[in-house]
Amino acid sequence: METIRIEDAKQHVGEQVRLGAWLRNKRGSNKMQFLQLRDGTAFFQGVVSKAEVGDAIFAKVKALHQESSMYLIGTIRQDDRSPFGYEMDVADVTVVGESEGYPITPKEHGTDFLMDHRHLYLRHLQPFAVLRIRNTLITATYEFFNQEGFIKLDAPFLTSSAPEGTTELFHTEYFDTDAYLSQTGQLYAEAGAMAFGRVFTFGPAFRAEKSKTRRHLAEFWMIEPEMAWMHQEESLALQERYIAYLIQAVLDCNEYELDLLGRDKELLAKYTHLPYPRISYDDAITLLQENGFDLEWGVDFGSPEETFLANHFEKPVFIVNFPKAIKAFYMKRHPNRDDVVISADLLAPEGYGEIIGGSERETDYAYLEDRIKEMGLDLDEYQWYLDLRKYGSVPHAGFGLGLERMVTWVTGEEHIREAIPFPRTMNRLRP
Ligand code: ATP
Ligand code: MG
Ligand code: MG
Ligand code: MG
Repeated sequence: METIRIEDAKQHVGEQVRLGAWLRNKRGSNKMQFLQLRDGTAFFQGVVSKAEVGDAIFAKVKALHQESSMYLIGTIRQDDRSPFGYEMDVADVTVVGESEGYPITPKEHGTDFLMDHRHLYLRHLQPFAVLRIRNTLITATYEFFNQEGFIKLDAPFLTSSAPEGTTELFHTEYFDTDAYLSQTGQLYAEAGAMAFGRVFTFGPAFRAEKSKTRRHLAEFWMIEPEMAWMHQEESLALQERYIAYLIQAVLDCNEYELDLLGRDKELLAKYTHLPYPRISYDDAITLLQENGFDLEWGVDFGSPEETFLANHFEKPVFIVNFPKAIKAFYMKRHPNRDDVVISADLLAPEGYGEIIGGSERETDYAYLEDRIKEMGLDLDEYQWYLDLRKYGSVPHAGFGLGLERMVTWVTGEEHIREAIPFPRTMNRLRP
């Protein structure tokens, strides 16, 4: 007999099949038991009738605890009343692994409790839906960049330098010297772009974020495309195409998961309509000031400003040309102004904040050298990077997307810790 996965049940209506599943919950009477089952692909119900299975199996089923694992044999039946649309009329049950005293009961639990039991909580409905959507975003990322002529280039995680500043660095030992956990693969991606034209890195980024916001993890995954022979406008067009592609992929592949989460699919579909608005940092400051924000030109935006701006446009919005002083040294000077760089942050609507940070890259050797010194960085560490300007420098641009920010937004979760299997935050290193 074929062993199937629950998500394929609709192809087996009327057939007797076998499946391996865990028990989430059960209810019923002395004649019928309704088993809430899951197998990692979907949640559904198995119906066990005493008359069908006999006294012995029925007694065994009635005694099962939450999260016991079992093989079930039965017939798949379409049932429009059940949330999944299909059920199994169970003919036989073989218990594989007992489970007593499972800590996450169907009652309400606090966040800390659930995060302490994250290794088990992954089995539950919300992480199931969120992390399957995360998987779609990862798969779609590879698809998209393959279609656009990129190759994936792996940047190292152990580095000797700190391009984004030193305050958020994780320090470690590397044989007899100091090393840092990588905050970004950006500089390596630039080397890759000069070798392969278009590359993207995809790996963990480590930042010792000391503030406890809903949008920052200490370890997160970043996708960093870098394109040779490309200016900012073309990069922005690529970015919005990428975001629309990701959202469409989730709409196409994860209707079930979006429904489990109660996420508004029509709203998501609106975000696939391009282009996204672009406004300058200058205009954003004016707009904020006109709307009661007390801030000066030159500051970086925090969560309230980002939320206001994106809500104002009801769409993802690019804020372009930020002040040079608050951006990384490698961003290209504006041709007509010395105080801003050719950069763009993409802000997500609904209060989800900065999703992408990107820029055109500075190509001038002497200017970069000055900027590195000005920022108080060690020039020796960047000699290899400066080589990229020395030997056949070309216009190029790139950006970084935080995967968990994207997951949080698409799934409509409140907090970024839900968007990664095992979150690392200021006060969580376990499990
Ligand atoms: P923020 O302003 O939100 O702190 P950033 O400007 O410091 O972000 P970048 O250095 O531009 O971030 O990194 C590129 C992208 O990586 C961001 O747009 C965001 O999506 C993501 N990101 C940055 N820091 C974090 C973090 N601590 N946790 C999760 N994602 C992050
Ligand atoms: Mg930051
Ligand atoms: Mg930022
Ligand atoms: Mg940024």
